[in-house]
Amino acid sequence: MRDIIIIGSGPAGFTAAIYAARAELKPLLIASSVEIGGELMNTTEVENFPGFPEGIMGPDLMGKMQAQAERFGTEVVYDDVVELDVDGPVKRVKLGNGGEHEAKAIIFATGSAYRKLGLPEEERLSGHGLSWCATCDGFFFREKTIAVVGGGDSAMEEATFLTRFADKVYVIHRRDSLKASKIMQQRAFDNPKIEFVWNAAVDAIHGDTAVTGVTLRDTVSGEVSALDLDGLFVAIGNDPRTHLVHGKLDLTPEGTIAVDGRSSRTSVPGVFAAGDVIDPIYRQAVTAAGSGTVAALDAEHYLAALEDTSGDPSAASAEAAEVDELVAVDLADAAR
Ligand SMILES: Cc1cc2nc3c(=O)[nH]c(=O)nc-3n(C[C@H](O)[C@H](O)[C@H](O)COP(=O)(O)OP(=O)(O)OC[C@H]3O[C@@H](n4cnc5c(N)ncnc54)[C@H](O)[C@@H]3O)c2cc1C
Repeated sequence: MRDIIIIGSGPAGFTAAIYAARAELKPLLIASSVEIGGELMNTTEVENFPGFPEGIMGPDLMGKMQAQAERFGTEVVYDDVVELDVDGPVKRVKLGNGGEHEAKAIIFATGSAYRKLGLPEEERLSGHGLSWCATCDGFFFREKTIAVVGGGDSAMEEATFLTRFADKVYVIHRRDSLKASKIMQQRAFDNPKIEFVWNAAVDAIHGDTAVTGVTLRDTVSGEVSALDLDGLFVAIGNDPRTHLVHGKLDLTPEGTIAVDGRSSRTSVPGVFAAGDVIDPIYRQAVTAAGSGTVAALDAEHYLAALEDTSGDPSAASAEAAEVDELVAVDLADAAR
């Protein structure tokens, strides 16, 4: 039996693996069969990950994280977890190829998926003018004309933020009124750079190597028109990848996995969660990496406590939390 199995190969999973491997816990990381490396594999230049002043391509960054995790002894398996048994002291993970693994602790780092428009051009143009993250990519659209698709709070937030860079931001929404809260709507309505395109659905995205525009369909009249653009941001929702743990771990009202305070402890002792799957707000590579660190340290403390408590997961979880608190108080006292 392993000490730790990590599920997910994004920044959270690989960072957890780096810490767990350096703590001699010989982690097994299940990377997925197709989407190895997580969301950053879908982008081009990453300019906001510390340590890379010139920027780095998303896949290169993930390759480096994996190499760093493997350098310290992480074993990576290219398969999907299809079933998870988290009850009791032995956690069991079943893979798509039928294989099974057991561990004393699990770190769940499966990320979240931005909802897509469902158009064939989306994959090809992702990172080439098509984005799901204004914080990540807004900087690339200085003095450009762009559009945001969506009518909720996140679309209003993205559109308002993007006016810092772009000359013009269209908001394309399929209805004639917004779902967003009054305050976010008003902020967008008051912004002179934002123009709303009501009752409009994106039927196609134009561009061979980069986004050049979209085909819009009027959702009331059916009329079709073209809109020239330098960039398109899709803000129609985000789904944490939690289907494996429904009914097994507590979730938050936002649909992310619930964790105890600033820790990564889930509702089940010995199961820890990290990255975008627990984060409804920040969802950045560096926050996911930081969260992976927290999970590895929590798991490490839990495993140490498991030895003291004759393998009782609940007692070990309580002891690990108590020890963390005692250490924090001790450090604070020492600093006084
Ligand atoms: C197009 C795009 C561009 C972005 N650009 C930036 C940027 O420039 N800067 C920035 O900081 N952030 C950026 N982000 C956000 C950033 O990518 C995420 O915040 C970050 O990747 C989250 O890391 P994570 O490890 O939590 O999850 P993810 O990166 O989503 O990784 C989760 C991994 O778990 C795997 N997985 C899921 N289910 C299973 C399973 N059952 N079995 C095995 N594996 C499984 C997935 O396949 C995936 O590999 C961008 C996001 C997108 C979509």
